[in-house]
Amino acid sequence: MSDNTQTFSCILLFGGPGCGKGTQGVVLGAVPNMVHLSSGDVFRSLDKDSDLGKEFLSYSTKGLLVPDELTVRVVKQHLDKMVESGKLDSDYHTLILDGIPRTKEQVKLIEPFTDIKRVVYLMMEDRDALVQRLAGRAQKANRPDDADPDVIRKRIEVYEAETAPVIDEYNKKIVAKVNADQPPLAVLRDVADSLVGHVSPTL
Ligand code: ADP
Repeated sequence: MSDNTQTFSCILLFGGPGCGKGTQGVVLGAVPNMVHLSSGDVFRSLDKDSDLGKEFLSYSTKGLLVPDELTVRVVKQHLDKMVESGKLDSDYHTLILDGIPRTKEQVKLIEPFTDIKRVVYLMMEDRDALVQRLAGRAQKANRPDDADPDVIRKRIEVYEAETAPVIDEYNKKIVAKVNADQPPLAVLRDVADSLVGHVSPTL
């Protein structure tokens, strides 16, 4: 049995759709004591024909967020499975949260099992570049939600209304702003700089 009461040290990658959270998260997740957790990937890994998989698609294909309780339940179950299978150990790993929390309610719901040590805010000012990144990604990945300009617009709207205010829930002292309009390697350098010495003595 896994210990369901454990708390995970976390780094939160924060920013709008297309800001590069996923790209940075995958690289950081390759560091031995870090594990990348993308809520979008967790949802996409659901069987499309299952009730849960269908429910996810009914939201994501419209650019809408999955309801808070359901999101946190699915993500927590995924974490529990990782712990059970030995892929995640709260004594050793720092979790890289990518895509969660996305609402103020989710901030509360994840509190019992997360300890957010640092928030990396990937800031993109260049709106045209963002729309281009999303459109490019639709072709590469299994992302119907990136293919339709109306859905992209909706996701940006939902981000601005629901998710952007989440940053105010965190103490400014733990928030590091990174210019995400730069090429990925330059963003990675700045993300790493914002973390070294700020998360744990071993990072
Ligand atoms: P992006 O960051 O590019 O918008 P994600 O891969 O993070 O996309 O998420 C894809 C979809 O999964 C979202 O549009 C949403 O429907 C759903 N989703 C992911 N994370 C959450 C979350 N924390 N809360 C609600 N819905 C979520």
